[in-house]
Amino acid sequence: RKYVYTFSEGRADMKGLLGGKGANLAEMTNIGLPVPPGFTITTEACKEFYIAGRKFPAGMEEEVAEKVAWLEQTLGKKFGDPNGPLLVSVRSGAVISMPGMMDTVLNLGLNDQTVIGLAAGSGNPRWAYDCYRRFIQMFGNVVLGIEHHKFEAVLEEQKYKRNVQYDNQLTAEDWQEVIEKYKFIVRKETSQDFPQDPKEQLYKAIYAVFNSWENDRAIVYRRIHKIPDDLGTAVNVQAMVFGNMGDDCGTGVAFTRNPSTGEKVLYGEFLTNAQGEDVVAGIRTPRPIDRLQEEMPDVYQQFVRICTLLENHYKDMQDIEFTIERNKLWMLQTRNGKRTAQAAIRIAVEMVEEGIITKETAITRVDPAQLDQLLHRRIDPNAKLNVIAKGLPASPGSASGAVVFNADLAESLSQQGKKVILVGTETTPDDIHGMVAAQGILTSRGGMTSHAAVVARGMGKPCVCGCEAIKIDYENKQFFVGDIVVKDGDVISIDGSTGQVMLGEVPMIEPELSPEFQKLLQWADEIRTLGVRANADTPEDAAKAREFGAEGIGLTRTEHMFMAQDRLPIVQQMILATDPEERAEALAKLLPMQEGDFYGILKAMEGLPVCIRLLDPPLHEFLPNAEELAVEISRLKLMTDGDPAELKQKEDLLRKVRSLSEFNPMLGHRGCRLGITWPEVYAMQARAIFQATARLVKEGYQVEPEVEIPLVIDVKELAYLRKLVESVAEEVKEATGVNFHYTVGTMIEVPRAALLADEIATQAEFFSFGTNDLTQTTLGFSRDDAEGKFMQPYLEKKILADNPFIVLDRKGVGKLMQWTVENARRVKPDLLIGICGEHGGEPSSVEFCHLIGLNYVSCSPYRVPIARLAAAQAKV
Ligand code: ADP
Ligand code: MG
Ligand code: MG
Repeated sequence: RKYVYTFSEGRADMKGLLGGKGANLAEMTNIGLPVPPGFTITTEACKEFYIAGRKFPAGMEEEVAEKVAWLEQTLGKKFGDPNGPLLVSVRSGAVISMPGMMDTVLNLGLNDQTVIGLAAGSGNPRWAYDCYRRFIQMFGNVVLGIEHHKFEAVLEEQKYKRNVQYDNQLTAEDWQEVIEKYKFIVRKETSQDFPQDPKEQLYKAIYAVFNSWENDRAIVYRRIHKIPDDLGTAVNVQAMVFGNMGDDCGTGVAFTRNPSTGEKVLYGEFLTNAQGEDVVAGIRTPRPIDRLQEEMPDVYQQFVRICTLLENHYKDMQDIEFTIERNKLWMLQTRNGKRTAQAAIRIAVEMVEEGIITKETAITRVDPAQLDQLLHRRIDPNAKLNVIAKGLPASPGSASGAVVFNADLAESLSQQGKKVILVGTETTPDDIHGMVAAQGILTSRGGMTSHAAVVARGMGKPCVCGCEAIKIDYENKQFFVGDIVVKDGDVISIDGSTGQVMLGEVPMIEPELSPEFQKLLQWADEIRTLGVRANADTPEDAAKAREFGAEGIGLTRTEHMFMAQDRLPIVQQMILATDPEERAEALAKLLPMQEGDFYGILKAMEGLPVCIRLLDPPLHEFLPNAEELAVEISRLKLMTDGDPAELKQKEDLLRKVRSLSEFNPMLGHRGCRLGITWPEVYAMQARAIFQATARLVKEGYQVEPEVEIPLVIDVKELAYLRKLVESVAEEVKEATGVNFHYTVGTMIEVPRAALLADEIATQAEFFSFGTNDLTQTTLGFSRDDAEGKFMQPYLEKKILADNPFIVLDRKGVGKLMQWTVENARRVKPDLLIGICGEHGGEPSSVEFCHLIGLNYVSCSPYRVPIARLAAAQAKV
């Protein structure tokens, strides 16, 4: 078994074994780019480390020693040699990049002896001691587990003592003092001296990287991003190059295109005389990359060439880390860059136009789930804004919320349903939970590649960073902008596309699709075979759906129409009616209202099919709450001058409400059971649909109503109700003299219906999977109870991989669906089959629907673009 690979032995496609960083370092080495030499310890070694109870696998240490010897020979330097010490970085590198989640140690190999040699040999003691103090600090934190701030405090004190603002203003003597204090901290915290043996330092660091795979930050990150826990991390050991030797040195990060907008410009930042994480950590505010052109033109030219080369090589936008040592450029990392949805779309479309990728590839480059970001509301450009400050536009989108300065508080307030904006000088990986909970993030320090910016973009959260105008006073939980004071709890708004920070809440507008987005979706439409419809209950929603590219309505729920303020009393009258005449009277009042509803929707969708579901929910949903009624009755009884008629009416009502109450409403008197018990209700709805249809046909519109019967369990139910609907249609045709076309079908949302699909298909022109109910009834999980009460442990204990109400349960519910499709199509090959549950807009579920041969998915209007893209991805 081989545990260690030199960079020249690896390739980009060995990510699984070498991790993303290692595989790309290998690829860059092999295409001849300047990469400091090094080697990668595999993820296999990490997995075995955990299997063995956190012990290095047998043989690994020997292999590492061999490669260290090779490195020493290659560079002519030796571990621990004061006259030319080998210094290395020890870098984690997971298979899927986890920025800031795993820790890196730089300058390993320094000790009290080698630092003296390094200082003397280089003639640059300031640099040598800077390296050593950084090493103690990083090693102390990452490997020895000493809290970061203990070291920071010493550093701050030294800067204060010397009256300087930045670390690069400190001298060699300053660093020597700092080093002594750092070593004291190590001794105090670990009861041991700082380890002096480079080999011991190295193995301890490797151990710590392996260990960090299971640290809290990494675990949280994996959970949020659904990264499997068993991939393990690789460890990269690499010869150091130095960006902190003087002003002809520096370090930086760059994206080959703008990760926020997608614009094709080199986008990045660098700091001169700095090392490693300085740029990302927001120690000093870095400078934009084009300034490098003025300062080191040759290096800049070479860098631009390498960026183009890497982009063409990987055929994707790259996120690159580099260091300049005495005017020489070194490449330290490249990976496919994270980007906003907006940028992903623009980059994919432009790369097709530039001939770098195909349309099919472009389709796969945009994560449908990420599109949510673009389908959200943004600040009304015509609104008058009270802008108080401007920072860097780090992650687009806008948000309003109450100011909080603390991640824990952000989390707890958001759990209480409050909207918050997390404000801080910067963020660290320990703030992740607060960032998840917040609507947006605002920092006063750090650049576009700072922790806050990178993480926010990954989450699709609005973020403004480096907003230096705001001065935070943590002590008193407030911040100042000039003489404006903003206190904890005050509402502010941020716009991550412009960097603006505003007082108060601001008006938002509906989203629109950009031209690039339209183009990408058009390509998706050319590729996909699965149809996409929308669920819409109003003409406005239907129009929105159409604008977003819906090819019909997959579900119109009629109950929402019953809930309207002015209708509820009539609906209640219908339910509470004691005799058929009274019920008929109420239904007669509802008929023109419903006809108006259907008229509007059918007209908005003219030329496209509209599937209308007849009444579905349990009746008690339309009635007053029994407890409230009871209280009201007691109150009336206590009143001496109460109206006896009113009291009696309320008592009758309560009796009726109680008689309608059910132990298990979701399994109770609902769906087509209402149609079976009260055929006149379904007849009224059918009449409303057909009268609207007849009117529209007469007016010259082409309309295609589909009448849908919910919750069917047996073909006889469907046959009975179908006959009812057909006879109403005949009556309407007769009465209006208009001939029109319509179809009748059913929802499949109970296992029995799925199992008997072949029989039921004989009475249906279409099926639509109601996967919300089908999931409830197949798992026997009540959705309303599961989510609050027991879903979480099921997910945490990994009994279920995903919440089945969000991601379709392919294994169980999916099997029923597949059975349904196969058996129904056996008797009726051209049966139209769709899905209208929440799953219809969820990318993985859309893929499944494509795979089992459904005709369409239907989802909320805002998810239509997501479904269009997901359907195309399922095809390629
Ligand atoms: P992360 O995964 O958090 O980005 P890295 O392993 O990339 O961590 O290390 C962070 C930074 O440390 C790099 O961007 C680079 O600036 C610096 N670094 C890592 N290895 C070396 C090295 N061999 N020489 C110089 N700088 C290095
Ligand atoms: Mg990195
Ligand atoms: Mg249902």
